[in-house]
Amino acid sequence: MFENLQDKLDRAFKVLKGQGTITEINVAETMKEIRKALLDADVNYKTAKTFTDDVKQKALGQNVLTSVSPGQLLTKIMNDELTELMGGSVTEVDLSANPTVILIAGLNGAGKTTFSGKLANFLKTQKGRKPLLVAGDVYRPAAIDQLQVLGQQIGVPVFANLESKDPVGIAKEGIAEAKKNGHNVVIVDTAGRLAVDEEMMNEIAAVKANTNPHEILFVVDSMTGQDAVNTAKAFNDRLDFTGVVLTKLDGDTRGGAALSIKSVVNKPIKFIGTGEKMEALDVFYPERMASRILG
Ligand code: GDP
Repeated sequence: MFENLQDKLDRAFKVLKGQGTITEINVAETMKEIRKALLDADVNYKTAKTFTDDVKQKALGQNVLTSVSPGQLLTKIMNDELTELMGGSVTEVDLSANPTVILIAGLNGAGKTTFSGKLANFLKTQKGRKPLLVAGDVYRPAAIDQLQVLGQQIGVPVFANLESKDPVGIAKEGIAEAKKNGHNVVIVDTAGRLAVDEEMMNEIAAVKANTNPHEILFVVDSMTGQDAVNTAKAFNDRLDFTGVVLTKLDGDTRGGAALSIKSVVNKPIKFIGTGEKMEALDVFYPERMASRILG
């Protein structure tokens, strides 16, 4: 469907050969084609429309050199534009504070606990940090077990308090524990819900207010399409998070959610999850995602 976008563009521009420039008439039909392809890649309608309008403006009147096909030229314009829209370059997590407190937020099943483990592993092995994981999901004892298993696997200690049902208290105790034991990063996994609800938002907002985290990373399943965008907006409205983590990009999802979420909440995407293993984490490179979306 989207495999041969460049071929499609070349076909759409056949009429253009010998003409030398991209004109309004030629470009309209092609933009429709591109918009359809973006929608197939899970980009939301409004974002796809704005994007194609921008690309159209840039493409119009461009000279088509004999060595470059119109399709190639348009693909380049789109790649550059997409890369720019997704933040341009890599945005790293801010680790300047000691200890740096990182709050992990998102719905149940998004991949928060898995990502917490992956991030701890990444910071330990790639950044030479000494992280502490804090099990803040007070509703699911299984989530605490899961984090403890992951912690053991990667050799990172996990702070938990099975007696407590108070997420704010646990987060504070965890940070105190980190200070006591010389941990320079504290990663607080939090409780999610199946859908956005007021109680969850109040709870995580209270954790934020009482711990002043340096980073709040919003974790979202990239396969949930338009829901991912709505959830991101709801969390951002309430938490004003500092970055997005897109999980489950190991499947055949095209990654359109990256573009939609960035354009709706305007926060950097910092990491992508590409599998269930602890090593299956990548820093987010806008340019690579652009190529993925364009197929
Ligand atoms: P939480 O409820 O948000 O804490 O979500 P979990 O961390 O428990 O993850 C839910 C499920 O998604 C688990 O089965 C994970 O193994 C799986 N998962 C998490 N991240 C990824 C990913 O990047 N790729 C794949 N394929 N599975 C993932």
